[in-house]
Amino acid sequence: LQVLYGIEHLLLTHSHMDHIALLPMLCDIKNIGRASPLTVYALPETIEVLRKHIFNWHIWPDFAQIPDADAPVLRWHPIQPGDVLSIENYRVRVLPATHIVPGVGFAVHANDGANEAFAFQGDSGRCPGFWDALAQEDVDLLIVESAFSNAEESLALLTLHLSPALLAAELTSYKGRAQLVVTHAKPGEELMVEEQLTALIGERLPRMLRSGEIIKVVRRPAQER
Ligand SMILES: [Zn+2]
Ligand SMILES: [Zn+2]
Repeated sequence: LQVLYGIEHLLLTHSHMDHIALLPMLCDIKNIGRASPLTVYALPETIEVLRKHIFNWHIWPDFAQIPDADAPVLRWHPIQPGDVLSIENYRVRVLPATHIVPGVGFAVHANDGANEAFAFQGDSGRCPGFWDALAQEDVDLLIVESAFSNAEESLALLTLHLSPALLAAELTSYKGRAQLVVTHAKPGEELMVEEQLTALIGERLPRMLRSGEIIKVVRRPAQER
């Protein structure tokens, strides 16, 4: 619980349920353990949808007014692709995405002498702008989605997600160093998606993101700098 009390900044990629599910409960927890507000960074379109459909007093209270509007639990911080956010000891670049609803990804660099960096793609179908922006960021690790297996590629195209084959095609235009950590596979399909990715882009050492995994931004070994 102390970990949840301590969260002060939350970056949202888009408004879909699987990407906002923690936020309403986190606001409630923050209100109970009230020490610092929660700042939520999101596109204006995402903020509008969440205020209208979640934090509307019907589905959940408006925590931007609780306990009072001058010192609320929840503060919204609108962002745009291309923005560079300075969040405590981190520099965060907002990356573009192409999804059913407006979405973004993020590249995260530490300012404390650590020179590793990582990016989170969010949900996205084919998006040349994302890979162009990512190439400027020199990240070591990319958390990327493959929501579907190759057999479900038509569904991936319809819903603006990726499959292993679509991700491999996207990567042909990306020359950066990033190792791939893959997420968003359907429950039970993780192993199949990982095998398909290894067959297509094994040189990127793709592996699935594990529940509870902690990714630390550290110094690179000297020979890589
Ligand atoms: Zn989505
Ligand atoms: Zn999703």
